[in-house]
Amino acid sequence: MPLLRSLATKAGIMRTPSDRETRLEQEGKWREAQKLRFKQYTKCAHKQGREIYELIRADQRILFQVQARAAQLQTGKDAALALKHRKKPCWTTRPAKIARLESKLLEANTERGLWGKSTDIAPKQLPTECLDGSLEALWVAEHHRYNKLSKLQDGPAKRAYLSLHQRSGWHLSEWQRSECAAVGGCCARDCGCCTRSRCPDLPTLYYGHCLSYCPCCAKARGFTITPDSIDDDKMLPELKLSDWYDSHDYVSRLKNAHIWGL
Ligand SMILES: [Zn+2]
Ligand SMILES: [Zn+2]
Ligand SMILES: [Zn+2]
Repeated sequence: MPLLRSLATKAGIMRTPSDRETRLEQEGKWREAQKLRFKQYTKCAHKQGREIYELIRADQRILFQVQARAAQLQTGKDAALALKHRKKPCWTTRPAKIARLESKLLEANTERGLWGKSTDIAPKQLPTECLDGSLEALWVAEHHRYNKLSKLQDGPAKRAYLSLHQRSGWHLSEWQRSECAAVGGCCARDCGCCTRSRCPDLPTLYYGHCLSYCPCCAKARGFTITPDSIDDDKMLPELKLSDWYDSHDYVSRLKNAHIWGL
């Protein structure tokens, strides 16, 4: 039967799931297409848990760099303004860290902490990066995401991710906004930062919710937080590997928010 199906698909008699999804999207039934992808995914033997986690994390890492950059720019603006008016900046404190951090060690610790005792997953080569909001750091973070996306096997989850992330405002779901508001992010206020590009000086527009470096959140808090990496960012909940695989409620919602958008 699988052989017959394969032959029929090749001959164009039978539509592939991907064809059906495309057709639904063309008919304006995007949610139906995502539901179809999700249904296929539930039947997959390999749930790609680690690959999906790493892809979501890679997206968060980009956002971290973008917001670190925005914080740097804000610090510069505040300093210039203070100089003009000959007074101390009112809220910014030390500039965002300009340091090439020992990320090999950091990444090694993270990998060990996340993936526990498994011996078959030792990374071949640990990424080196500077976590300082520079253009170089952003490039590295983008490259890292590209690698993670490449590692995610072609299938319903990857198609769903790509389709979701093409939609403007995909990150503004009720759940994501409530998560942002719960940790004191801009969704708790009327500033609208999460609906705008996070760093207007960049040619690419980046959207997302607040992390520790968000300048607007720092102003609202009255102090800055300068984590060295996304793994230290207290605006995100700490996740363990067991949470990821135990159908943890938060993880299910996170995956829905970043992959399915249902
Ligand atoms: Zn914010
Ligand atoms: Zn704001
Ligand atoms: Zn937000």
